[in-house]
Amino acid sequence: MMNKMPVLFIGHGSPMNIVADNGYTRSLAKLGRSIPRPQAIVVVSAHWLTDGTHVTCEERPKTIYDFYGFPPELYRVQYACPGAPECAARVAAAVGDAKVVCDQGWGLDHAAWAVLTWLYPDADIPVSELSLDIRKPAHYHYELAKALAPLRSEGVLIIGSGNIVHNLRMAQWDEKAEPYDWAVKADEEMKQLLQSKNHTALINYEELLHAQLAIPTNEHYLPMLYTLALQEETDELRFIHEGIQNASVSMRCFLLQSAK
Ligand code: ZN
Repeated sequence: MMNKMPVLFIGHGSPMNIVADNGYTRSLAKLGRSIPRPQAIVVVSAHWLTDGTHVTCEERPKTIYDFYGFPPELYRVQYACPGAPECAARVAAAVGDAKVVCDQGWGLDHAAWAVLTWLYPDADIPVSELSLDIRKPAHYHYELAKALAPLRSEGVLIIGSGNIVHNLRMAQWDEKAEPYDWAVKADEEMKQLLQSKNHTALINYEELLHAQLAIPTNEHYLPMLYTLALQEETDELRFIHEGIQNASVSMRCFLLQSAK
């Protein structure tokens, strides 16, 4: 029996982080070197919204450049990792085959590779992506994620990739722009709820402080609920990084790892 893998939530923020050397990217690089090496990785993506839940089953997922108007160097980065079809099959079996669709055409969007390029720069670990069934309410995602728990003992690293506070309409181009007061307050409240393991309040996110500004749409928030759903009694939560980029995007990242 393998040691149980940790679970991650990574705030991915602006695609500029793909090529940035900052406190956030250094935190990710350090994290990748400090946790047990996974057999495979499943990334729950804020950028793959589907009707039903899909999982990538490709042998060679392509790097998708699903962002526009950024400097050319970002479009030259490749993340040529192997796909994880066997792991995808395990995901489907764990959730129940009827519920997860095997996908052969998507590849890896930047919610996955922008983060993995820092965590695992050698791109030598097989990766599958899991989509968000965007028609479903928050508690559905939380419950679905619970079924993935056995994969942790099979060497699979599950990563939710989104941002708990994410308002693109109000974002400033400058990464270091002064954060909005509401963004700081919303992020702080979520931090406290994470620390106190108040999953119920986090599932009912519409009632959180400044939720309409912090979570104007929920696709970047929902991946966090997948991570949270995998928290077990013995798991301790550790923040890997915190801070606001572009005035309106929380870069808070955390790890859940068994204390035993
Ligand atoms: Zn995003």
